[in-house]
Amino acid sequence: MSGQQFASDNYAGICPAAWAAMQEANTGSVVAYGQDEWTLRASDALRAAFEHDAEVFFVFNGTAANSLALASLCRSYESIIAADLAHIETDECGAPEFFSNGAKLLTIRTDGSGKLTPEAIRAMATGRSDIHFPRPAVVTITQPTETGILYSLDEIRAISATCRDLGLKLHMDGARFANAIAALGCRPADMTWRAGVDVLCCGGTKGGMGIGEAVIFFDRTLAEGFDYRCKQAGQLASKMRFLAAPWVGMLRDGVWLDYARHANAAATRLAQALAGIPDIRLVFPVEANAVFVSIPPQAALRLRERGWLFYEFIGGAARFMFAWDAEEARVDALARDIAACVAQ
Ligand SMILES: *Cc1c(COP(=O)(O)O)cnc(C)c1O
Repeated sequence: MSGQQFASDNYAGICPAAWAAMQEANTGSVVAYGQDEWTLRASDALRAAFEHDAEVFFVFNGTAANSLALASLCRSYESIIAADLAHIETDECGAPEFFSNGAKLLTIRTDGSGKLTPEAIRAMATGRSDIHFPRPAVVTITQPTETGILYSLDEIRAISATCRDLGLKLHMDGARFANAIAALGCRPADMTWRAGVDVLCCGGTKGGMGIGEAVIFFDRTLAEGFDYRCKQAGQLASKMRFLAAPWVGMLRDGVWLDYARHANAAATRLAQALAGIPDIRLVFPVEANAVFVSIPPQAALRLRERGWLFYEFIGGAARFMFAWDAEEARVDALARDIAACVAQ
């Protein structure tokens, strides 16, 4: 693979801030299984960033974070309301159902945005109330969505009000949470607990870490037994300091948001460069670090022949994702190649 690729934000390496913190943590003998100074510092850094005395856990990846968080919010005979495009539905191999011992995902058709609305949630949650149907217990939203679209704070508040009204918990899949904060320019607290989110899965990996996501319970009572859940699922890191330390590095001086802003700007740069090209179109508004572009099939083939990697199974278009390391020259090269392949 020659040159930087944008098929996934997971193609990026480890950002300097995370790397430096890992190196700092790599000295001496330290208590294992999360009873160490780094885990405490990382948890405190997250509590400070979110302005809330939340309960924080560190796990290896997003699938585990989502699945275990959702499992703690519902019983096996209950259900989880999600968008049709939700990662938990399309990309977690049934892990949320598995870890919740069979709770059912109830998906709502969206227009490709992956966004739920209060009306759709209410309709789904109240459509059935008999014993034959798995009782809805939790709603999950992805911010930004799998197709790179943002919920406004008002939209999140409206959803949480509906959840409260219906007695449902609200979970947020924030695999790209920093991108959303950077894009909306708001405080993490305003997008989460102040807006009524009960549990956030806060992405570290796509934000620039090598491994790791934080599960943040704003309502501590919901975290009861979560440590055991993590251990049982193989998600309790023995050398926890190395899952925790990167958070200390990322949150120091708000660096995580600088990286996210950089990633978002790269997406905007590509979108702007593509704006004038005939025969292609942006399928979704570019609001975070994703660009979905509809390219004629022959042109897409030529783009692959030129060595570009991209997925087309999400959102039905060519997807380009940008991370902390996006090189402007490479973004421009991609735009030029797309233009050339379409014109050819
Ligand atoms: C990447 C991603 C995750 C986490 O995926 P893992 O591969 O399990 O780390 C979760 N939710 C969304 C929306 C994602 O894009």
